[in-house]
Amino acid sequence: MKVLKIDHLGIAVKSIDEGKKFWTDVLGLEFEGSETVESQKVTTAFFPVGESEVELLESTAPDGPIAKYLEKKGEGIQHVAFRVENIEAALSELKEKGVRLIDEKPRVGAGGAKIAFLHPKATHGVLVELCEK
Ligand code: ZN
Repeated sequence: MKVLKIDHLGIAVKSIDEGKKFWTDVLGLEFEGSETVESQKVTTAFFPVGESEVELLESTAPDGPIAKYLEKKGEGIQHVAFRVENIEAALSELKEKGVRLIDEKPRVGAGGAKIAFLHPKATHGVLVELCEK
């Protein structure tokens, strides 16, 4: 599999409106706009930084994965996303290597990207997202 770059850092926040102030007003990053991904009960907002981006994640439902994350751990880095050349090939290679996956098949994430998560137990505690755009 070919990992091209760190695509983005996913950061869980209680509120994108509140959370984005630091990234825009303090760090001077550009706010690229937000998008709700209903299937994942999340609204995402992207802030490009060079070759990568910061992604803020706000829950749209009390039982969504981000709401659960905030409950357990509070605001902070929730996942690291690596861009790969071919996500299907990457997932089958990881499966062959016995890596525990959350998503055996890619799903559609923000911006129409194909994404899949690896289980944090397989990565020493980091929720890793693979994405192909
Ligand atoms: Zn992400």
